Amino acid sequence: MSLEIITPSSGSTMFTETQGFPALRKALSMGREALQAQTGLGTDKTCLIARAFDAESGAAIRSTLLAKTPLGILEGLGIAALALGATKAILALATPTEALNVAIPELQKLLPLEIEVRMIQPSFMAGEDSALAELLKGKPAMAGGHEDASTLVLDAETLVRLATGAQTILLQVIGAVKQEAIVEIHAGTTLRQVIFEQCGGMKGDKGFKFALAGGPTGAFIPEAGLDAPASPGTIVVGDESACTVDMAQRCLAFTAQEACGRCLLCREGSYQLKEILSDMASGKTKAEDEAQIRELAAAMAEGSLCPVGRRAADPLLTGLQHFPEEFEAHMKRKRCPALVCKKYVTFHILGETCTGCEKCLGVCPEEAIEGEEDYIHVIDAKACTQCGLCFEICPEGAIVKAGPLKPKTPKEPIPVGTWKKR
Ligand code: SF4
Ligand code: SF4
Ligand code: SF4
Repeated sequence: MSLEIITPSSGSTMFTETQGFPALRKALSMGREALQAQTGLGTDKTCLIARAFDAESGAAIRSTLLAKTPLGILEGLGIAALALGATKAILALATPTEALNVAIPELQKLLPLEIEVRMIQPSFMAGEDSALAELLKGKPAMAGGHEDASTLVLDAETLVRLATGAQTILLQVIGAVKQEAIVEIHAGTTLRQVIFEQCGGMKGDKGFKFALAGGPTGAFIPEAGLDAPASPGTIVVGDESACTVDMAQRCLAFTAQEACGRCLLCREGSYQLKEILSDMASGKTKAEDEAQIRELAAAMAEGSLCPVGRRAADPLLTGLQHFPEEFEAHMKRKRCPALVCKKYVTFHILGETCTGCEKCLGVCPEEAIEGEEDYIHVIDAKACTQCGLCFEICPEGAIVKAGPLKPKTPKEPIPVGTWKKR
């Protein structure tokens, strides 16, 4: 699905590209104190780093800003440097941007600022300020080290806001919405408006289940939270067929893999939480797991060196808070109500719907499907690994998932039209 850019119908937008650096010229005519008061950038810094790449995989807000308004980022960089008294700026990019080659010398005619463009390999850790500063020094992207008080990292969104004066925020909405989009909104716009008006509502008119706001260290927002003002950043929308345990597990697995490992609490804690969730999704929960989750999460929030570790348990904690019955179903009843967690799901071919087209035969990597043309096909439950490929491909919707209640299906292939349920 393509990513639309949806801008507000009134007021200035961050996607307005300007020429000639008008906002910087105005800033140059102001006293520094007045500029500091206007921008909120009041502390002296010698070096400014602009984060103009997306750290999370799948995120696209900054790369889109860079593509649509590179001069806005550059102009904002100039204004911020002026307010901070910085003499050096580093523009950290993941995509080469030709427009900057011409624009940087133009800006330097107005402002004596050393500007270095650095191409970097984006990573989750590079989204953390101190880790990005380390990376730009040629070191591994580790967070939580000795803070360099002379350097400030600002994101592309902040810089463009300085250049355009737009009083807006940007969200990237992906997942089970009709239109995935980067949405620019005025403060106070609710998440419900973003999802159901700007993004057209839920794909396939399915029911809304959750929004995961803030990426892999973000928080689940249930239906009851949709009328709160939306916050900037990435929002993953899940519909009624999504499982919060599965989603939390994927978040923790990502964080456990991507965290820099500098501190023990985050490194071990995110690994342990990932393992507990993995057990939960595969029927191996132990009685003490929930207490251990809370103990580990509290220790990580308290003692981790950077926000990655401090927030790593948030998807799990907010999942437990807002969807307790779903977690309980996994932990106590060994069920996945959404039929997502493989351990609790089986696949079946309905005898009354299968047309014997053979399409599923070709996709099964386990050769777990038996059948031939014009015969009702049958899945061998022992060989099936619940990959779901046949379910996705069946043109008739004849393949279904089941939890504890299994549908009646033929035991072996029989000619289409001869199946009668007893
Ligand atoms: S909290 Fe995690 S990501 Fe942050 S410094 Fe510690 S190990 Fe690295
Ligand atoms: S289950 Fe679906 S894909 Fe497989 S043979 Fe039957 S109709 Fe075709
Ligand atoms: S779910 Fe995957 S492994 Fe199981 S029958 Fe379908 S394609 Fe084969």
